Parts: sequence; structure tokens; C-alpha cells
Amino acid sequence: MPNKKIVLHFSKNLVKEPIVYKLIKEYNLSFNILKAKILPDEEGIMVMELSGDEKDYKKGIEYLKRSGVSTQPLSKDIGRDEDKCIHCGACVVMCPTQALSVDRKTMKVIFESEKCIACELCIEPCPTKAMRLHF
Ligand code: SF4
Ligand code: SF4
Repeated sequence: MPNKKIVLHFSKNLVKEPIVYKLIKEYNLSFNILKAKILPDEEGIMVMELSGDEKDYKKGIEYLKRSGVSTQPLSKDIGRDEDKCIHCGACVVMCPTQALSVDRKTMKVIFESEKCIACELCIEPCPTKAMRLHF
């Protein structure tokens, strides 16, 4: 029963297609949309958490590919530049999911990408621009 956060990239001509509806109806998956936007070039981006049977999940992802929707794990689109992070902690209070937290032993700020929901609240307060979001 995977529960995975993925990013869907829709091309301009697919923005109005009922892709997500079919994904849910025909592949028996549950979803939670974390973010959806149309970029200036009219490409659509959706961040969602998908869950369901492993076999259905794979079929659903194949269906998306066949439909021309590219997908990738959210963890590939968000990250932290470890060289830039100065462990100031400014991002920790902003993070609603505790993807950013302080290790009390080392007093370093830890980033756990699997907890991230791409809300972007940590981007602005970071003084060194260490947090990166690729969409
Ligand atoms: S705000 Fe930026 S520099 Fe400070 S701990 Fe967070 S990621 Fe690191
Ligand atoms: S994008 Fe949101 S959930 Fe992810 S680390 Fe930043 S504040 Fe936390």
C-alpha cells in the first residue's frame, strides 16, 4: 500500500484533460492534492500524495506516462543545498510537517524530504537560499 508524493507535469494541451479523474476512477487510487499551479508558459504542475494497492499504483503511473504526463518523486524537486545551510533554524518554525527539525544532540537542522509537502514556507525565510524548489 504505497503512499507516495509525486509531482505531475502537464503540457499545455493536457491542462484541461480529466487525467486525475481517470487516475482515481480507473486505477482505484486515493489522492490528496498538495499543490496545483499553471506556470506562465501554461504548463500545469500538480503535487499529490497517491495511495493504493502497489499493482494499481504502477498501472496508474503507466497510464500517466502514456497520457503524456511526466511524473517524478517530490523529493527530486525539493532539496537543501548542504553547503549553503548555516543551521540557523529560521526555517524550522515555518515548516508545518516537521520536515525541518533540530537535532538536539548536534544542534544541526535536519531536512527529511519524505515529510515535505512542498508548501514553500521555508524558502523565503532562509537567509542563504539553501532551500531549493525546482518548480
Ligand atoms: S533557514 Fe536556511 S540556512 Fe537556516 S537552517 Fe534553514 S535551510 Fe539552513
Ligand atoms: S516546503 Fe514546506 S513542508 Fe517542505 S520543508 Fe519547506 S516548509 Fe517544510
